[in-house]
Amino acid sequence: MDGITLSSGTRIPVLGLGVYQTPPGITERVVREAIEVGYRLIDTAQYYRNEAQVGRAVREALSQGMAREDLFLTTKIMASGHEESRRAIAESVAALDLGPIDLMLIHWPQEDGPGTWRALEEAVEAGRVRAIGLSNFYGQDLEEIIRGARIMPAVNQVESSVLYQQRRLMPALERHGIRLEAWGPLGQGRRGVLDDPVLARVARAHGATPAQVALAFQVRTGVITIPKTVSRDRMVENLGAADIGLSAAELEQLAALDTGRCIGWPGFPEQDYDPADHPFSPPA
Ligand code: NAD
Repeated sequence: MDGITLSSGTRIPVLGLGVYQTPPGITERVVREAIEVGYRLIDTAQYYRNEAQVGRAVREALSQGMAREDLFLTTKIMASGHEESRRAIAESVAALDLGPIDLMLIHWPQEDGPGTWRALEEAVEAGRVRAIGLSNFYGQDLEEIIRGARIMPAVNQVESSVLYQQRRLMPALERHGIRLEAWGPLGQGRRGVLDDPVLARVARAHGATPAQVALAFQVRTGVITIPKTVSRDRMVENLGAADIGLSAAELEQLAALDTGRCIGWPGFPEQDYDPADHPFSPPA
């Protein structure tokens, strides 16, 4: 699996498995199978209530000879301010129970973002976390963190797919060496992404599926992507995207699919909303 070196110096696999809405009761099985079929990046969060189950599956893999440095674990806290965040960080480290966490994100903008960021920086300095980053940060929320940061965010995990390529956010991220990590890379299984005729045509040319081409587009354009599935067959299918080469012409056709409008953020009108227009604190 190809990797990307983050500003922290740590290397992250370019494609991993997300476990949002993976019920705790099956998370251990899902993560075990993901590691078996070749995933090396797992993305969880306190909000998903399955950190402990992710940790158990990873510890099982380690007990069977997998090296800890070959696996990359991301989690996210949603705490505001220094003290609350220190507690949240400690909770995640304890729940995963894997030693230092590879990447910890602020799940979405908080009232006291700088205080939360300071707690994350201290966690890096204390060796509890290897890299830190943001999720769902745009506009002023993003600027506020960047302005005060001693450690620059390594990633901003935001909704991104072939239909919503985050072109308005990208320049700010590139300026500060922040990598784009995509949630909702398959449009959360909703309408749109996987039904696109261009995607279907490129998929046919490669003997691939539309989902694979949607993910391959991200991999080939340097976007870290973490599609979710609980099905072993789809895990294999999605991971296979990392091996699909796309020609310059195909990349251009796929780039032209961008609508500039998000698909997956609950609570917002689906077609007309680009979070880049509204620095916002999304609903909990
Ligand atoms: P996704 O775009 O990965 O869609 C997942 C859904 O797509 C699955 O439930 C399934 O219905 C379908 N699917 C998966 N593989 C498929 C395939 N090969 N063919 C057809 N359909 C397929 O959406 P997501 O789960 O929201 O995002 C991925 C991950 O990103 C999450 O699991 C989570 O880790 C992370 N995430 C983060 C945030 C955030 O605020 N930071 C928000 C949402 C998700």
